[in-house]
Amino acid sequence: MVVGLWEGKIMSKTKSPPITTELDGKFLDGSLETDGKLIKIEHLTRTYTLGEVEVHALRGVSVEVSKGEFVAIMGASGSGKSTFMNILGCLDKPTKGTYTLDGIEVGKLTRDELALIRNKKIGFVFQGFNLLSRTTALENVELPLFYSSVSNKDRKDKSISALNIVGLEERIYHYPNQLSGGQQQRVAIARALVNDPSIVLADEPTGNLDSRTSVEVMEIFQKLNDQGITIILVTHEPDIASFAKRHVVFRDGRIKSDKINNSPRIASEVLKTIPSIDEEEEEA
Ligand code: ADP
Ligand code: MG
Repeated sequence: MVVGLWEGKIMSKTKSPPITTELDGKFLDGSLETDGKLIKIEHLTRTYTLGEVEVHALRGVSVEVSKGEFVAIMGASGSGKSTFMNILGCLDKPTKGTYTLDGIEVGKLTRDELALIRNKKIGFVFQGFNLLSRTTALENVELPLFYSSVSNKDRKDKSISALNIVGLEERIYHYPNQLSGGQQQRVAIARALVNDPSIVLADEPTGNLDSRTSVEVMEIFQKLNDQGITIILVTHEPDIASFAKRHVVFRDGRIKSDKINNSPRIASEVLKTIPSIDEEEEEA
């Protein structure tokens, strides 16, 4: 039976990672000293081997991110942003170098442990929303909870509150094709939030959205960040990056610059200056 969408792939329930309370305990508090850094990456490389050809997607990246930061990752196409995000999100492992997430050295984990830490700590949002089309908004949001031991009622309650956070409480029984692009992305954000992650990773989340809807999505990210969730977001649009508190620019698999944005724009303020789309179009 198909129950879930994870890593962009449909997984059957029988293949879901074993989750035990013993492992839960191990991952709830990391064992390594990280000076309060949520993410600590040192000399990270990632080389893809395609037959005889080696592609050096990351060529030595060192970076730290503290709890509560809001980082925009920028850089030209092919500069290594998605490769970096996949490693941050424990979807992929470094070729060389170390990645410590909340005191846990990710490179040393088994596949099942990676899946567990991913489910516990990380929420993903993608450019293409990645919703299951024959499944309601509510069921899409419930999916990550099939991998944890929550009761049916808790699963529904948690999912409804996640949909509340993104302002979709009145659309929970809609299917993706009955929702606008912005609403679909909000469902995807709710799905990313349902496990109470400490980090949300978003790879070009506004890439398929018009400009007002993009700012609405940024408003949600800023709200989540105000509540203490660390946000790391890839974008190639300076307008979108201007909502983040820090700008990290990649070039050819390396970090070219890393700067604090002293005056991030406030999405809720910006929205007041953009005419809103009428309800009819919103529901198209
Ligand atoms: P960005 O997200 O900044 O556009 P990527 O991280 O997707 O960049 O890609 C960085 C480099 O790695 C590119 O040269 C790309 O072609 C290559 N690459 C990405 N994914 C793979 C893969 N799975 N296999 C081989 N090469 C890859
Ligand atoms: Mg990319």
